Amino acid sequence: MKRVVLPCGEAVSALGQGTWMLGDDTSRRQEEIATLRRGIDLGMTLIDTAEMYGDGEAERIVAEAIEGRRDEVFIVSKVLPQNASRAGTIAACERSLKRLNTDRLDLYLLHWRGRYPLKETLAGFQALLRDGLIKAWGVSNFDVDDMEELAALPGGDAVATNQVLYNLARRGIEAHLIPWARARAVSMMAYSPVEQGRILRDRALARVAARRGAAPAQVALAWLLRHKELMVIPKATNAAHVRENRAAVDLALTHADLAELDGAFPAPRGARPLEML
Ligand code: NAP
Repeated sequence: MKRVVLPCGEAVSALGQGTWMLGDDTSRRQEEIATLRRGIDLGMTLIDTAEMYGDGEAERIVAEAIEGRRDEVFIVSKVLPQNASRAGTIAACERSLKRLNTDRLDLYLLHWRGRYPLKETLAGFQALLRDGLIKAWGVSNFDVDDMEELAALPGGDAVATNQVLYNLARRGIEAHLIPWARARAVSMMAYSPVEQGRILRDRALARVAARRGAAPAQVALAWLLRHKELMVIPKATNAAHVRENRAAVDLALTHADLAELDGAFPAPRGARPLEML
């Protein structure tokens, strides 16, 4: 499995597993747990969750999926902005740990910016780090101006990652945010990497996939996995999808593949505001 090294020194699987909307359909719970486990077996040991997902239910599902194998996985969870005061961040993390049935998070993110000043949330993260409840902290849905404000705070440059919307159809961050992060060795994590399934019907993507004997999702993920500092977290609740996604790590796109994808999904011409889902 390809790995990304975080500023804290941890080497994390570049291809992970998302969990948004897990638990929404209770009849699929066992299948969702089994699929997460299958993904871990295949080396997709980075698991992304959040207190928001299913109002905590996704974290409970992750707890079942990782039972007995906590040390194999790298768990990411997120605090909601309305909870992100210093004390609120600590309390939210403690609730997540309980639902996840673990004693620490590997990475804890602010889900998006809200009304609390960043220095308050940062103070919460620093207290959690000191107490060993989290191993690293980061942010999500932060544009360049947010990242600059954060980096200017005492200790703000310890940010481990910025999790953002990035896929073939959402390339706006290539103009400014990716170069900013690269210059400062801040890793990034691409969420909704197959645009929640919507890009998989694209004709150019299907053509490249057919030529390479791959599935469209594999090509879309391989396109993201070219970036050395990028983690990618597709969600799959179907065992065949998780197998296909894992195979993306071994698919090297050619210049011809990349040119065809650029034609169908053009790179941005200039800086654009960060998009969110
Ligand atoms: P996504 O991963 O782009 O797409 C998930 C959808 O794609 C599911 O319907 C899944 O179907 C389907 N899929 C996955 N692999 C496939 C394959 N090989 N072939 C065909 N279909 C496939 O969307 P997402 O769930 O929005 O994003 C991924 C994760 O990023 C989330 O789960 C969450 O952890 C995180 N996220 C974070 C934020 C944030 O604000 N920080 C926002 C959005 C998402 P099946 O379920 O049937 O397999």
